[in-house]
Amino acid sequence: MAEVRLVDIEKRYGAFHAVKKQNLTIEEGEFLVLLGPSGCGKTTTMRMIAGLEDITSGDLMIAGQRVNDKPPKDRDIAMVFQNYGLYPHMSVEQNIGYPLKLRGVDKATRTKQVRETAEKVELEALLKRRPSELSGGQRQRVALARAIVRTPKIFLMDEPLSNLDAKLRVSMRAELKHLHHELGVTTVFVTHDQMEAMTLATRVAVMRDGQIVQLDTPKKIYSEPVNLFVAGFIGSPSMNLIEGAIAGGQFTAPGVQMPVDAPDRADVVLGIRPEDLELTQSTDAPISGALYALELTGDSTLVTLREKGTSICARGPAEFEAAINTRCMLAPKPGGRVHLFDKTSGERLD
Ligand code: ATP
Repeated sequence: MAEVRLVDIEKRYGAFHAVKKQNLTIEEGEFLVLLGPSGCGKTTTMRMIAGLEDITSGDLMIAGQRVNDKPPKDRDIAMVFQNYGLYPHMSVEQNIGYPLKLRGVDKATRTKQVRETAEKVELEALLKRRPSELSGGQRQRVALARAIVRTPKIFLMDEPLSNLDAKLRVSMRAELKHLHHELGVTTVFVTHDQMEAMTLATRVAVMRDGQIVQLDTPKKIYSEPVNLFVAGFIGSPSMNLIEGAIAGGQFTAPGVQMPVDAPDRADVVLGIRPEDLELTQSTDAPISGALYALELTGDSTLVTLREKGTSICARGPAEFEAAINTRCMLAPKPGGRVHLFDKTSGERLD
């Protein structure tokens, strides 16, 4: 187990600044998720930790030692990358067992460990196949199995579940979570899937344009996003973000008249999550609009209202039914959280 520390880490590709002055301490035993949209620098950060990418400037420390110039094989890291990196001439069994072979583990122990690991990722029936005879999702599971077959100091995982179908993705997620609980190995996990980040992480680092914009527990990222970018990125469906103004303790926008505990201010964005709203019959409800769409998700119905260009989504009960264009009213649920942001800077106000 080991702490990983990035001190003023930068990465430039020529004139392009891919990672900017990154400072981050990944604590021993932590499951840290790097989350952000495509191109924000997640993979580059991960590849620098792995030693697969030169660091332009700054210090990378693993277990208190500066490792900028240490080759990947000397960092005691196990990696899973998007492009699998499997050996084409080896069987699934040999691929999974390779890290053990490299470390001189005897054949009988290897066979046993490979079988146990293959079971965890549901690959036991495919051990004799070559990577070319597997689907993308199966290859991804081989790469995952090869990483978890031994216990390294650090796991680095770059979108290791991205090619799996929805059901397998959820079961592998639980498997990874259990594995982390069992082994307690420091893990850095890259994803652009906020649900994966929320469910797996001890802390999430939300990245944008080569920088970390918020580093917090999943709970805090969800309940107190620091700016509009994080607010809109976390949650599904995403937070309603409504542009308006505050005067006399009231936020006003088309279809919205919501009491808020904040001083007068123009150019404000009010944020409220669909799950923090409820349908109401009250005619003086803070939000009203014409019903635009109803989407049954199984355990609930997503209710979208539109009013003069403002669109608001609420998570209502599964049984809710109404005709399109009916006038509907919404109010924050008791305890439902209202967020306020500055429209220009995007920063959180409360
Ligand atoms: P994704 O989710 O799409 O994998 P990411 O957040 O992992 O994205 P990176 O792969 O880290 O993003 O890339 C960060 C930025 O650096 C991108 O704009 C990318 O185009 C750029 N980049 C990456 N590798 C190189 C390279 N070898 N040369 C020049 N630019 C690069």
